Amino acid sequence: MSLAVVGATIGGEAVGLRAEGGAIAELGPEVRVADGDEVVDGAGMALVPGLVNGHTHAAMTLFRGYGDDLPLMEWLQDWIWPAEAKLTAEDVYWGTRLACVEMIRTGTIRFFDMYWHAGETARAVADAGIRAVIGAPLIDTGEGTGLGGLRDVAAASLDEVAAMAADGRVSGAFAPHAIYTVSAESLRWVAEAAADRDLPVQIHLSESEGEVTDCVEAHGKRPAHYLDQLGLLTPKTVLAHGVWLDDGELDLIAERGSTIVTNPVANMKLAVGGPFRFPSARDRGVRLGLGTDGPGSNNSLDLLADAKHFALVQKHAAGDPAAVTAEEAWALATGSRSPLLGGRTELAPGDPADFLLVRADAPELAPGELVANLVYAASGSVVDCTVVAGRVLMRGGVVEGADEVRERALAQARRLGIA
Ligand SMILES: [Zn+2]
Repeated sequence: MSLAVVGATIGGEAVGLRAEGGAIAELGPEVRVADGDEVVDGAGMALVPGLVNGHTHAAMTLFRGYGDDLPLMEWLQDWIWPAEAKLTAEDVYWGTRLACVEMIRTGTIRFFDMYWHAGETARAVADAGIRAVIGAPLIDTGEGTGLGGLRDVAAASLDEVAAMAADGRVSGAFAPHAIYTVSAESLRWVAEAAADRDLPVQIHLSESEGEVTDCVEAHGKRPAHYLDQLGLLTPKTVLAHGVWLDDGELDLIAERGSTIVTNPVANMKLAVGGPFRFPSARDRGVRLGLGTDGPGSNNSLDLLADAKHFALVQKHAAGDPAAVTAEEAWALATGSRSPLLGGRTELAPGDPADFLLVRADAPELAPGELVANLVYAASGSVVDCTVVAGRVLMRGGVVEGADEVRERALAQARRLGIA
C-alpha cells in the first residue's frame, strides 16, 4: 500500500510526500506520484506532524457532560463510579470508537489511555486506525483486591492489549491509578513487572494538594520521592498532572527522565488549585507532554484547543506573556518533548507516515505564522486530512463510518442511563 500527497506545503514551500509500508518514503519538492499510489490532493493545505495526547481515558466520551460543575469527589462518588460499575466491554468499545473519531477529526494520531476493559480499548483503536498505549487502571485499596488481584488484572489486560498489536499501532502499559489507590507493595511489584516486560507505566501524580499532605503524613515524603523509593520513576514513566510537585521533586523527575503530562483544561475544570509549574519543570529539563484527560472532565479531546489553554494559563499564572511560546506549546502537543511520547516536530523520510493536512487557507490561519496560528487562533476543525501509518483516516474532514460510531456510542450511553 502506498500513498502520495501532492500540492501541499511545509513552511510555505511546495512539497510532495510518498509513504510506503506505513513509513514516509520520500519528502520534498521533487517528489512525484508513483504507479499504484493512492493520491491525496494537498492543494491549499500545510503538512504538519500529528498530535500526541499524553493522558486520557478515551471511553469516557460516554460520560461527556454527565455531572458537570461538581466538586471532584462528589462527581466521582455520586456520578462516575456508580455509572462505571455498570460498564460493559461493549460500552468501552463504542465509547473509545467515538473518542477515536473525535481525535482523528482534530489531529491526534496517538494517545496514552488508562481505562477499564483495556482489551476493548485496544480493539477499538485497532479498528479506528490510530495509535495508542493502553493500560487498565490498577487499584488495590478501598474495596481491596490486594496484590494478587491487581496482578491478575494487569496480566489479563496486557494479554488482551497485546492480542491487538495492529501492526505496532497498539501497545500495552501498566497503569496504577494513583499512589492513594494502590498500596506500596503493589506499586513496587508494578515497577519490577514493568522493567521485566520493558513496558511504560502511567500514573496520576500530585493532582490535588490533599494527595501531597496525605502522602507526607503516611510515608514521610512527598509523592515523587515516594514513587522513586518504590522504583517507579524511570524514563518509561508517564506522570499525569504533577500540579503540586515542588522544586526538589522536579529535580528528581528531571534526573530520572520520567515524563510529566500536563492536563490544563481538566485541571481548570476541576479547579485543582493552580497551574502545573511548567517554567520550573522546563528549566530543569523535565520531559513533558500535553494531555486532555478524560472527556468526562475536559470535556473535549481537541488537543489543539488544549495547547492554547496550556499557553494561556501559563502566561497568566506567571504574569509574563513570554512564559511560554507558541513553539513550546506546539512541541508539547506533538509529543516531541519526550522520547516516550514518540512525537516529532518535523516530518522526515524513514519516520512513521503519521501526519496531518491542515487547511492553510482557513480564515483563522491567515495571515501570520502557521504554528502560532495553530496554537492561538485555530482549533482542531482546521484539520482536513489525518494519516496514520500511511493510511488515510480522514479526508476532506470526513471520517468514514463516523455516523454509525456516534449512533452506537449514544445507544451505549443510553443503556448506562446517561444520554
Ligand atoms: Zn486521568
